[in-house]
Amino acid sequence: MRAILFEGVGRPLRAVQRPIPTPERGQLLLKVHACGICRTDLHLLDGEVSVEHPPRILGHQIIGTVVGCGDGDRDRDRDRDGDGNGDGDGDGETDSPRRVGVPWLGWTCGRCEYCTSGRENLCPHARFTGRDIDGGMAEYAVADERFCLPVPESYSSELAAPLMCAGLIGYRALRMCGAARRLGLFGFGASAHILAQVARWQGREVYAFTSPGDEAAQSLARELGAVWAGSSAESPPEQLEAAIVFAPVGELVPAALATLAPGGTVVCAGIHMSDIPSFPYSALWQERSVRSVANLTRADGSEMLDLAPLVPVHTHVSTYPLAEAARALEDLRHGRFTGAAVLLP
Ligand SMILES: [Zn+2]
Ligand SMILES: [Zn+2]
Repeated sequence: MRAILFEGVGRPLRAVQRPIPTPERGQLLLKVHACGICRTDLHLLDGEVSVEHPPRILGHQIIGTVVGCGDGDRDRDRDRDGDGNGDGDGDGETDSPRRVGVPWLGWTCGRCEYCTSGRENLCPHARFTGRDIDGGMAEYAVADERFCLPVPESYSSELAAPLMCAGLIGYRALRMCGAARRLGLFGFGASAHILAQVARWQGREVYAFTSPGDEAAQSLARELGAVWAGSSAESPPEQLEAAIVFAPVGELVPAALATLAPGGTVVCAGIHMSDIPSFPYSALWQERSVRSVANLTRADGSEMLDLAPLVPVHTHVSTYPLAEAARALEDLRHGRFTGAAVLLP
């Protein structure tokens, strides 16, 4: 199969031929239809988040169909109802193969204090797709069946891919905002463009902050229902009750705090951020808080994927052929597209 390989920090991604992976017990073999790219992939490339055992196939927003499984019976998955016709619905007709999504959370221990208290996102033994496990920048991938998520049927694979990280981890960040009605989103990229739609559907007002002069992102924000869109150097017309910082820029944390009403929360949604500059205690005073969000749980995944078609969330994607993964990532780095980018093998 064709795959894009990360071989180490500072080395260019390389297109290679690799054997199709063999699923182990409990794993599914997937034919990859689409794989979203994510800012985390840039952090991995740049060494800000480390890949312990390169070479590694990156990519953790995978949509694929099940073409095999690790118990040696390639048809087992196609025959989930056990009626022997391989379609899983018991109506005697052959139906389409199962399509699943593979998110960043690829495996957890299931035994630690975090796993056993509904916080598997914090499992110290967790393995992450496209970092500790080969990901979706390839024609095929294997994934632990327990961590695969159902893909809403109304979404094409390329439009569903950005839900898998931008959507799911963004949704976890949104939940951390509690009942906040006036919500700021700092950095209006893949995650924010999804969350703005969910937030608006929930009855919140969205205030979008972009890099100064990013008219394209500001107009996308308005199109998706933001009541205000401007630069992160501007003050919103109202004090906000919560703000989510998606951009990996530490300076935005005090900037976001400065927009908050008393009791408000700043949620940092990224896996990596540049250092947060010091700020006066008065910026935090009156029960304002700053917190981070790490990874996702499978429960976040199911909840968000149930919600997405109800809103319905429309993802805006730029697609690239698999071979152009490196160009897609550089376009992400330089903000050359709005919404999300998706690789198509
Ligand atoms: Zn991601
Ligand atoms: Zn655990």
